Amino acid sequence: MTEEFFEILPVKKTFAGWHEILSDSICTAGQLNKFLPIDVKTVSRVAKQYPMRINPYYLSLIRKTMDPVWRQSVPDQMEIEDSLCAEDPLSEEVQSPVPNLIHRYPDRVLFMVSNQCAMYCRYCMRKRKIGRPFVVNDDTIKEGILYIGKEKAVRDVLISGGDPFLLEDEDLEKILKQLRDIPHIEIIRIHTRVPCTLPQRVTEKLAGILKKFHPIYINTHFNHPMEINSESAKACCILADSGIPLGCQTVLLKGVNDDLSIMKILMRKLLMIRVKPYYIHQADLVKGTGHFRTTIDQGIEIMKALRGYTSGIGVPYYMIDLPGGGGKVPVIPEYIKGENSGRLIVENYKGKIYSYPLADKSTDS
Ligand SMILES: *Cc1c(COP(=O)(O)O)cnc(C)c1O
Repeated sequence: MTEEFFEILPVKKTFAGWHEILSDSICTAGQLNKFLPIDVKTVSRVAKQYPMRINPYYLSLIRKTMDPVWRQSVPDQMEIEDSLCAEDPLSEEVQSPVPNLIHRYPDRVLFMVSNQCAMYCRYCMRKRKIGRPFVVNDDTIKEGILYIGKEKAVRDVLISGGDPFLLEDEDLEKILKQLRDIPHIEIIRIHTRVPCTLPQRVTEKLAGILKKFHPIYINTHFNHPMEINSESAKACCILADSGIPLGCQTVLLKGVNDDLSIMKILMRKLLMIRVKPYYIHQADLVKGTGHFRTTIDQGIEIMKALRGYTSGIGVPYYMIDLPGGGGKVPVIPEYIKGENSGRLIVENYKGKIYSYPLADKSTDS
């Protein structure tokens, strides 16, 4: 049995600074048509409803029509045909005591500090807000920080958006400093897709700022091995060298990564760029994203194909975020098959049955 051997491939093109890359982003069907064979009318119609932004770096990862990078970034007719899903299925707005701050769990909050992203993912869970004039400004940020300061039970702040790394260094530093000054905040987590979609944004200067506010954790977001190359590896390396543990939240997406071997390669490649797979998310029931949905069974099959077959540290949890704001729950393949005369019947990763002797309850003291 031979296994494939992977390496991180170099990106041959050289890219400008991140501001320049971002300002060269493609936002209209006409611009995009210069690079990709699209149906201009369709893309234009969809982009009117759900804005498009594909920066030149992410665009350069597209290899062919409807490949996994294309599907994540190019507007699709299906987005405006989706009639099943809701705008805000996770009731984020209801659980926001102040604008742009979601307080769902007692000890942690999700704080949106930017409404911009380096690329607008077509399956975005905040499709209702992102890339539109949803207001993040000094006032909402101030209000959020005040709220966190008053809520003594909050010990963990997830800085999210949009993408927090689309803020200028100084603005991000100001937010981090104010959060660090709150005595009950133990950890700060930054949720960013920049290492994947605009790795050039991760500079030594940014890392120098971040490491002043430890303990900082970063969860990034890669969905396909095509997104992992020398540029993204470099971004993750800069962050990891600054002492920041890196996790990844992958979204299970039809036509992108709903495939056992693709997911296994992705998890292995993430470990190679020093990122620990944290969650695989079942796609949320967000309006305009229904065509990305997979079955739960597919997710369970993927988890079965990972556990035992690749490094344990490369096996994330598969999560469903419950509609109605119930929070996330893990969906775990069933390895325990039952109990028989004091023995637990357990199936191993290869499907072979073993029994494990249970402690005798009657001898409990
Ligand atoms: C996912 C999420 C969190 C964090 O959940 P963890 O399981 O701790 O990573 C917190 N708040 C909200 C609103 C979330 O959606």
